[in-house]
Amino acid sequence: MGRHVNQLHESEITENEKTELNKLKAMEEYQNNLIKLKQRRGEKGSSDPISVDCQCQLNDYKVILFYRYVSIKDPLQFALDHQHYCKDMTGKVRIASEGINATLAGTNKDIDLYLNWLTSSQPFKDLEDITRDDPLQLSDPSAPRYKFFKPSEGCIHIFADLSIKLTDEICPLGQKTVVLDKLSNPDHRLGKLAPQDFHNILSKRHQDDFLLLDTRNYYESKIGHFEGAVKPAIRKFSQFPDYIDRNKEAMRGKKILTYCTGGIRCEKATAYMRQVLPQDTEIFMLDGGIHNYIEWCKSNKNQMEDDPVWQGKNYVFDARQSLCLNNGSVVSTCQKCNTRWDQYNKCSTTGCHLLVLLCDNCSLQDDKVFCCEDCKNNQQTGLCKCEQQRRIEELETI
Ligand SMILES: [Zn+2]
Ligand SMILES: [Zn+2]
Ligand SMILES: [Zn+2]
Ligand SMILES: [Zn+2]
Repeated sequence: MGRHVNQLHESEITENEKTELNKLKAMEEYQNNLIKLKQRRGEKGSSDPISVDCQCQLNDYKVILFYRYVSIKDPLQFALDHQHYCKDMTGKVRIASEGINATLAGTNKDIDLYLNWLTSSQPFKDLEDITRDDPLQLSDPSAPRYKFFKPSEGCIHIFADLSIKLTDEICPLGQKTVVLDKLSNPDHRLGKLAPQDFHNILSKRHQDDFLLLDTRNYYESKIGHFEGAVKPAIRKFSQFPDYIDRNKEAMRGKKILTYCTGGIRCEKATAYMRQVLPQDTEIFMLDGGIHNYIEWCKSNKNQMEDDPVWQGKNYVFDARQSLCLNNGSVVSTCQKCNTRWDQYNKCSTTGCHLLVLLCDNCSLQDDKVFCCEDCKNNQQTGLCKCEQQRRIEELETI
């Protein structure tokens, strides 16, 4: 910010300059807030809530989850607008010139006001379906806004705060970026499978015909996944490209089905795979992710109950931890005593913070939660035997 906004006298500047100056002031304020936000944060991940306990009337609130890869002309202004429209909400918004990724919790009224603004803004106004100002209802799954913004039940306390960030990528693949062109090219869109089609392929259980690949992190796939999926032991999405590079041979010429929470990771994952795998490899993704699949199951109950290809819970990055069908099964176990368990805690060791599956009985045995003896005995290093084991598994090939 090269200019000093306060040094000029009000009467010496024109209206136009005033607008510019106000924008600069807002930018300075925004950057300062970001700095404060970063300072306030402890160890990465430690401020994320792991459970929620409040008295909110859930009917008054909802949570939305959406993304769009779209060229954003003025990402900074778009972020400032978000600061304004989301000021009474909580959640995470990532804005980059390649698009937006957001999870937001707020009152029904605030969410509707926000959506009415958002859908009239540059990056969204071409999506005619969702620009009509219909209130977003949890009871109307067929509405275009419902499909796009994936509402679910939850109050503002499922997040610790509101974090709006300008980033290079809305879903970080890291060094090995994909060209955005690949995301919007028609071939790529053909690779999206609706939940019904995805289900039909999986329910035949001819697993020699395809390779089912979970593109999420190991702690997500551990508590819920599609039957027969390959689940890379990666800890973050930026490790996915290396995983693909190591497994090129096993994927050559196969039909590959991918899935993630809401679709955002698969869009990039499949674009990257198209870039590096041989031409004769067929690559598909579950459109709208597990979230969309579970919604489809809810409206096609019989099919799902007769033939469940999804097992366990859909991990979400907030205090609710996971969403599921009413009959959601538990596929994971307590890592100490092996009883079925799928509620995560966080290891209290500085520098570790691994998510730990410890049942109530086992976690009561210590006053703090630890992922293993290494962490319990030496609460400094963070590279305990669980993490070492994960690194070994990450390198295993298909
Ligand atoms: Zn609450
Ligand atoms: Zn246990
Ligand atoms: Zn630990
Ligand atoms: Zn450990």
